[in-house]
Amino acid sequence: AIRRISEKHDKPFVVGCQKVDNTQPRANAVIVVLARNSELSGMISSMKSFERHFNRWYNYPYLFFNDGEFNETFKAEIEAHTKSEVSYAKIGSDMWGIPDWTDKEAAREGIALQGDRAIMYGGMESYHSMCRFYSGHFYNHPALEKYKWYWRLEPDIKYFCDITYDPFLHMERTNKTYGFTIALKELKETVPNMFRYASAYMRSNNIKSQGLWEMFLEKKPENKKEDKTPLPEEVLRAEPGSHKLPDIDPDNMEGEKYNMCHFWSNFEIARLDFYRSPAYQNFFEMMDKSGGFWNERWGDAPIHSLATGILLGPSDLHYFRDFGYRHTTIQHCPANAPTRQLPREKWIEETTVKKEGMKKAIEEDAFFESWDTPRENGVGC
Ligand code: GDP
Ligand code: MN
Repeated sequence: AIRRISEKHDKPFVVGCQKVDNTQPRANAVIVVLARNSELSGMISSMKSFERHFNRWYNYPYLFFNDGEFNETFKAEIEAHTKSEVSYAKIGSDMWGIPDWTDKEAAREGIALQGDRAIMYGGMESYHSMCRFYSGHFYNHPALEKYKWYWRLEPDIKYFCDITYDPFLHMERTNKTYGFTIALKELKETVPNMFRYASAYMRSNNIKSQGLWEMFLEKKPENKKEDKTPLPEEVLRAEPGSHKLPDIDPDNMEGEKYNMCHFWSNFEIARLDFYRSPAYQNFFEMMDKSGGFWNERWGDAPIHSLATGILLGPSDLHYFRDFGYRHTTIQHCPANAPTRQLPREKWIEETTVKKEGMKKAIEEDAFFESWDTPRENGVGC
């Protein structure tokens, strides 16, 4: 069953656990963490798992970001749990917090309102800052400058299968840009206007889908009406700081509609030059100008995801179906992945016929096979 789905793929990507192969020189890569002193025990638990299942054989360096200072206890404990090099970097006010060009009072009022409405993390300015940092800034931090690749790690995550090959090298060799292991639906109320802006960015820059954008659309492409939402002009004319999001009901939007799918960004393996490209940075700037990181609670996960939809094609992505991974309550377990249960042909039939437009994408890269399929213990969308 495995061979049937994997002919086009590297063996290690699909087969997973096998003899450790760490004989090749390392990639130019780093493990990126953002954390606070208070998260030490959750961080140690993540590192134990990450080291045990991968990094004790590969020894990739860690880089810890913080908007504050890590204390000596934190550093000593972290360093006691790895042989790898560990460094720390402070995030300055240029990359954290409400920027000066924003009406801070209005932004804080917006945040308080989201708190009142019990939007998850909506009332926490620090969480908004975190999402904005990971959406638009981390890749430009001087501490990351020398690296080409990163793997994102968080407190309270768990890996439960050995990763016996170097995913950076395999992504490099197969020319991949962005890797994920869990995709799920975003909480609607955190991103009411995100998709309008993202789709406006695409239209106003005349960017054509390379086959991935369709994955984020609720409507089937053949029913697609012309998007009449009067956004491009508005967006283009917006002055930094005006941050006036239109008062709309996303359910009544015309044209394309976001299906809320996104790659869960607490796990990511990706190329930094994707984000450093002018296209991504322009995209972020336009999104940022709208004020959505404060007036709504835009997550970095849907921002990264929609950016892949705008700027990449299916073959640029890699689904790490072989990584057993858990973050708090949601997990991906390779043993339950649908690709292990159904032959590829059947998947294509069952998933694409219902989702026209995806067939091409699926043929190009089998990662869509898990899309929209219930799993025993995992989540898909
Ligand atoms: P969740 O995964 O969406 O529930 O959010 P988390 O609380 O895990 O936050 C995501 C990541 O950002 C984690 O690595 C946190 O440690 C980190 N983080 C969140 N807020 C802050 C903050 O205010 N300061 C710092 N330094 N890290 C933060
Ligand atoms: Mn988390």
